[in-house]
Amino acid sequence: MNAAALQAAGCALFAHEPLSRHTTFQLGGPCPVLIACATPEQLHTAVAELHRSGEAFELIGGGSNLLVADGGLPSAIIRYQSAQPLIAYAHGVLNVSGSTQFDDVAACAVREGLAGLELFSGIPGTLGGALAGNAGAFGKHIGDVLEEVTLLDRAGRLRHAAPAELRFAYRSSALQTSGEIVVAARLRLPPGEAAVLAHQRNECLMIRQQKHPDWHVTPTAGSFFRNVAPTSAAGRRQAAGWFLEQSGALEMRLHGARPYAKHANIIVRDGPCSAQDVLDLSRRMADAVAQKFNLQLEREVRLLGAFASYER
Ligand SMILES: Cc1cc2nc3c(=O)[nH]c(=O)nc-3n(C[C@H](O)[C@H](O)[C@H](O)COP(=O)(O)OP(=O)(O)OC[C@H]3O[C@@H](n4cnc5c(N)ncnc54)[C@H](O)[C@@H]3O)c2cc1C
Repeated sequence: MNAAALQAAGCALFAHEPLSRHTTFQLGGPCPVLIACATPEQLHTAVAELHRSGEAFELIGGGSNLLVADGGLPSAIIRYQSAQPLIAYAHGVLNVSGSTQFDDVAACAVREGLAGLELFSGIPGTLGGALAGNAGAFGKHIGDVLEEVTLLDRAGRLRHAAPAELRFAYRSSALQTSGEIVVAARLRLPPGEAAVLAHQRNECLMIRQQKHPDWHVTPTAGSFFRNVAPTSAAGRRQAAGWFLEQSGALEMRLHGARPYAKHANIIVRDGPCSAQDVLDLSRRMADAVAQKFNLQLEREVRLLGAFASYER
């Protein structure tokens, strides 16, 4: 890999970098090199350079939906995240880099009097990460407002795609298997009443403050399991947290890992523990639900790296 070319493009390189510094769980061992990219151009340079040198890589955004193994990763990491929002706005359309913080996009839409993102206020991570997992809240999903996305494949080729190609579903998209990277996205939003939008944004932020842990203080990756699919076509998803509570998950803990007292589906750390501890605790929690309800919870948090298998 030509480090000088990457640095000339503005990428920052970190050798033997612990992933615990780049995930909201603050867990995860080192990778040989982490390449931090903030702009589409830096991302393109990094991907093309790794492809040219034949090196594999994993991609992360804000690291807010990840559990990284204690042993770290054998491959390079590209982190695509920007501290400053990279957003261009004109005529109801936001053109946003995938590296922009999702909450900055929501804040910008509200400021401009555009409706459709206010309920996503306070969701951590980047727009790219949000599109990859079709993030959402209060029954709405980011995939609903996407007009077009610019994607980069692992060989450094760019293409534009329509939302249908991403096959959005609850907390999933085709990006999770295709490996393509969201370079930028175009979001089309209808006008809304600025004061109402601002009020809804504040409400969302307040609800999050009351019900969720602050990941800056209490490390977590948010909901660990997906909510449970409805049992009828007309039904709604049922909160995984309810099944976990009924199964006694709130009393479980493993070293410093435990469910958050106000929300059994959120695993937090309140003391020293490993990523393996978090995964093992989650398996115990899921086992308890399986035994009581004959229901298999599906993990929402994504694993990176090698974890030990689980003996029941
Ligand atoms: C306190 C807390 C509250 C949360 N609340 C919510 C919530 O209400 N709703 C919700 O949906 N989620 C929630 N989450 C989970 C998380 O914030 C979202 O899943 C978020 O969208 C992940 O974005 P990220 O940039 O951090 O992705 P990462 O965690 O870095 O990566 C997750 C996956 O996305 C992929 N990815 C990242 N960037 C890109 C890109 N540019 N192109 C393609 N793939 C990419 C990665 O390869 C990885 O597979 C919460 C998390 C926390 C810690």
